[in-house]
Amino acid sequence: MTTFTPASIEEAQTWLQQRLEQPKPFQIRGNQTHFQAKAIPSSAESEDVLSLSKLTATNFFDPDDMVVGIEAGMSISKLQEILAEKKMVLPVNPWFGNSTLGGLLACNDIGPNRLMMGGLRDCIIGIEYLNGRAERVHAGGKVVKNVTGYDLCRMMLGSLGGLGVITAANFKVIPQPVEPHGLYSRFRDTSWLLGVTALQEARLPIDWIQALAPATTGEPDWILGIGISGNPERQARLEKELQSLFQNQLKSIADGKTNRSLGYLPGTDRYTGWLEGLRKKWKLLPNHLHVMVLLNTRDALQPIRLEALQHNELYQVIHPIGADLHFLLDVEDPSEQLDFLQELKNRFRRTDAKMVFGNAHPDLSLQDLGEFGRSTAYSFTQRLQRHLDPAGVFHAPFYQLPQAMNAS
Ligand SMILES: Cc1cc2nc3c(=O)[nH]c(=O)nc-3n(C[C@H](O)[C@H](O)[C@H](O)COP(=O)(O)OP(=O)(O)OC[C@H]3O[C@@H](n4cnc5c(N)ncnc54)[C@H](O)[C@@H]3O)c2cc1C
Repeated sequence: MTTFTPASIEEAQTWLQQRLEQPKPFQIRGNQTHFQAKAIPSSAESEDVLSLSKLTATNFFDPDDMVVGIEAGMSISKLQEILAEKKMVLPVNPWFGNSTLGGLLACNDIGPNRLMMGGLRDCIIGIEYLNGRAERVHAGGKVVKNVTGYDLCRMMLGSLGGLGVITAANFKVIPQPVEPHGLYSRFRDTSWLLGVTALQEARLPIDWIQALAPATTGEPDWILGIGISGNPERQARLEKELQSLFQNQLKSIADGKTNRSLGYLPGTDRYTGWLEGLRKKWKLLPNHLHVMVLLNTRDALQPIRLEALQHNELYQVIHPIGADLHFLLDVEDPSEQLDFLQELKNRFRRTDAKMVFGNAHPDLSLQDLGEFGRSTAYSFTQRLQRHLDPAGVFHAPFYQLPQAMNAS
């Protein structure tokens, strides 16, 4: 296996052109902040790698127009640092601070800020990528109003390295929230879900939301955190409405900076890696299991009896508005991990849920997720890949899941 780390986009393009003379699959890489689980059985380990980690330039940053353009190898924490100098932020949901913007886009990272406050698809205004013919494709633009080629930007979201090498991206950014505050409360059960449903129906403009159930030997103990910001009048109004939805159980705390001991108030971590802080706080074993379950509608969250999944080593993180549920099992034994995975699959069998590994023992593979491992647009993305990558050079295990897979 060899790794090529181009110092410029031109170098990457030349490398790809040469590669196409005798097409051989390779893996695209950012900073590899990702999971341990193997892809589907393949020669992936022996495949060459194109690493974008040196493409870290800022192409432009215009604080007045609130737009920024960067190369895809820049880490999200570096970008947030640059933006913070002008009191701006990119309101996305990275899992790890060191993830590259290319990796974030390719995986379409989601988390506590989703929905009310952006998400990648709301922030991206332009993208540049190399397709499977080594052509440099530009889509979207540098200004918010430019919508030409916009859908190509969205197409690359969640493309998992299968549709092209993302080399640069342009985003609209927002001012940092004013006086951010967190409201939180503990619950002995999942009754907080009712409050969340009411909150969504009332369309309250909160900034973020996250519920945690740390591993416990007794009854699960949920902590719900909700972020609000704005001038004092706005905050007072919002807080009053939220208190009425949660029977005045919420306590308020300033949450500008992340306080590591309060995982339910992700503070600045929600922009620079909401998962990283929790993994440190919970001291999870390196090969622990982390499965993200994505529900397709928020309504589907209600009938899932989360408390029935009780396990001494199980940590849960729920972003109820984005409907992403994270199950982190602090065991390294692969057969125990598979048993738990099976339990999860049984529980979500009657839903349209999709599952993604965040981490797992290397013995586990994408195939262990069965049908849950496929995205809803699976056949469409496969067709798209055949079109954009006719020589089949982009190694993307997700696109190669066998047609007939058993969900059990
Ligand atoms: C919905 C979701 C799905 C996820 N699925 C995966 C997954 O399938 N595989 C995985 O490794 N991690 C996955 N993760 C975790 C993810 O790796 C991290 O959260 C982070 O975004 C990765 O950034 P990175 O720079 O470390 O990328 P890496 O870990 O180096 O790469 C992660 C994936 O992105 C692709 N990629 C990276 N950079 C580029 C680029 N410039 N152009 C095109 N493709 C690129 C890679 O080929 C790889 O498939 C997922 C996260 C979410 C939220």
